[in-house]
Amino acid sequence: MKRTTFEDAVIDIPWIKRHVTVFANGCWEWNHARTTAGYGVKRMAGKNVYLHRFTCEITYGPSNGLHALHSCDNPPCCNPAHLHWGTRSVNSQESLERGRFNRTDRLTGIGHHNARLNPDAVRAIREVYATGNMTLKELGKEYNLHFSSIQAVVKRKTWKEVA
Ligand SMILES: [Zn+2]
Repeated sequence: MKRTTFEDAVIDIPWIKRHVTVFANGCWEWNHARTTAGYGVKRMAGKNVYLHRFTCEITYGPSNGLHALHSCDNPPCCNPAHLHWGTRSVNSQESLERGRFNRTDRLTGIGHHNARLNPDAVRAIREVYATGNMTLKELGKEYNLHFSSIQAVVKRKTWKEVA
């Protein structure tokens, strides 16, 4: 079998191969450590690294402040063919167009506190912050929010209804 695509090159990294389950739709689901939001994480050089960001970066180069976005809406997926660098607002728009957000999400989150966040993102922020691996400022950069907004999320001043 010819193995020439960037996908083949990425999945040939032994530790990726060991920890992903390849699905018929092409998704590579990270079956090792995940955040509550479902994103695959791996500890590298003392930091928790998101798998989808990692494979996006080794395939397409540095993020330049952008987010690794899924075309498949599947958080644990780290197939670079399903990922691209983009901005969070575009991602939210794409997700809305695909009907990902249900009515509850819209009532409790979108437009209520901050349009850039959703319950999954709120859980991920709290979880990553609790590990101590990212500062409020770093999380702010990741989510394109001022650090005080991130602080309000982790101190549960906003998004109180998200467990
Ligand atoms: Zn996928």
